Amino acid sequence: MRQRLTARAVVVGDRAGTVVPDAVVDVDDGRIAWVGPAADAPPAGDAEVVALPGLLVPGLVNTHSHAPMVLFRGQGEGLPLERWLREVMWPREARLTPDDVEVAMTAASAEMLRGGVTTSVEMYFSPERIAAAVTATGARAVIPAPMVPLRGMPPLEEQMAAAVDLASRVPDDGSVEYGLGPHAAYTVPLPLLRRAAELCREHGMLLHLHVAETAGEGADLLAAHGLSVPALLAAHDVLGGRVLAAHCVHMDDGDLELWAEYDVAVAHCPASNAKLASGLARVRDMLDRGIRVGLGTDGPASNDGLDLLADVRLAAQLARLREASATALTAAEAFWLATGGAADAIGRPDLGQLAAGRRADLVHVDTRDLGFEPVGDDADWLTHLVWSGVSRLVRDVWVGGRPVVADGAVTGVDAEALRAEVAQRAARLAG
Ligand SMILES: [Zn+2]
Repeated sequence: MRQRLTARAVVVGDRAGTVVPDAVVDVDDGRIAWVGPAADAPPAGDAEVVALPGLLVPGLVNTHSHAPMVLFRGQGEGLPLERWLREVMWPREARLTPDDVEVAMTAASAEMLRGGVTTSVEMYFSPERIAAAVTATGARAVIPAPMVPLRGMPPLEEQMAAAVDLASRVPDDGSVEYGLGPHAAYTVPLPLLRRAAELCREHGMLLHLHVAETAGEGADLLAAHGLSVPALLAAHDVLGGRVLAAHCVHMDDGDLELWAEYDVAVAHCPASNAKLASGLARVRDMLDRGIRVGLGTDGPASNDGLDLLADVRLAAQLARLREASATALTAAEAFWLATGGAADAIGRPDLGQLAAGRRADLVHVDTRDLGFEPVGDDADWLTHLVWSGVSRLVRDVWVGGRPVVADGAVTGVDAEALRAEVAQRAARLAG
């Protein structure tokens, strides 16, 4: 089906921060066929024309999430990390069932869609239940199957084999993709990390792991091997291929050089890093070295929202504070980190920008709001989008050209029923 969307402006989601005023986006069979000024548009032909009163922007890409943890949102607030894990998180996760994961992911996916997030990278238990959840809401997910050495879980080799098997059986519409998610170098033995990386390279899968989130986590490895975690991963042949490292807060120059050399991408999670006092990642230095960077919310137990557009603003704020410079991260770059840059970071050039040939994942932001005035020149659309706190103004969302949010409400699932179910399951898990 062909559709023509017209908007007051289009924000492309590229690094330059291109804004096209009085714009047209043509959608054909789930892909973007044409984007540009209405004055230059090809004839609409038999396309259905939809006139939108606001901005069209790309669906946001959340590069690091454990979204089913909406079940634990806000629990243990204010506790130090160790007590929070031992007393609050682990007992709850020990009671978690696959049904809990599916219900929670469905609710979280609805929440993300309503905030303009159309794709998320979900490292969490029961990967096929996460896939079922996004199939219900109409969103996309890249699902690095978690590899964690927990009691009650199958051996890590079996977890890997199961994920590779899942990866071979996905629909070709790009809605679901599986990868491997070995938790981190301090929790998963190096030979298994090496094997996971090998499998990912062999099958073109995303390898996703946590790196250098906290200052102390690599200390034992440094003592045992005399190498930082990035250097250790390089030495054990874990880098190369589609590798996405979450956090990367405590990285020295040599670590960043390795990331550039092996083209390792970073999932930067400013809200989580701030909430847990993990530290300030060197985003400017990463971008200057040509490292691919995308934004992530991290799990809703450590954010606690799934509002990636809010985190775009925070990323810009923290980068500027870190560098003591108001030019350290521009509004255009910050928005790109959640759109085109994020798609690059997860190795999905079919997503993240409003450009011909990419998948038609579109977000309509209603600009008839005080938060969107004044607009003097075209760049102001992007400025307000980043700085004015406007995710509540997301009105409509399409994924692959299919409507998934209409007039502010998710279309595929019953958000009210989900809310009740999340509350009830969270109470049971709290014990
Ligand atoms: Zn994480």
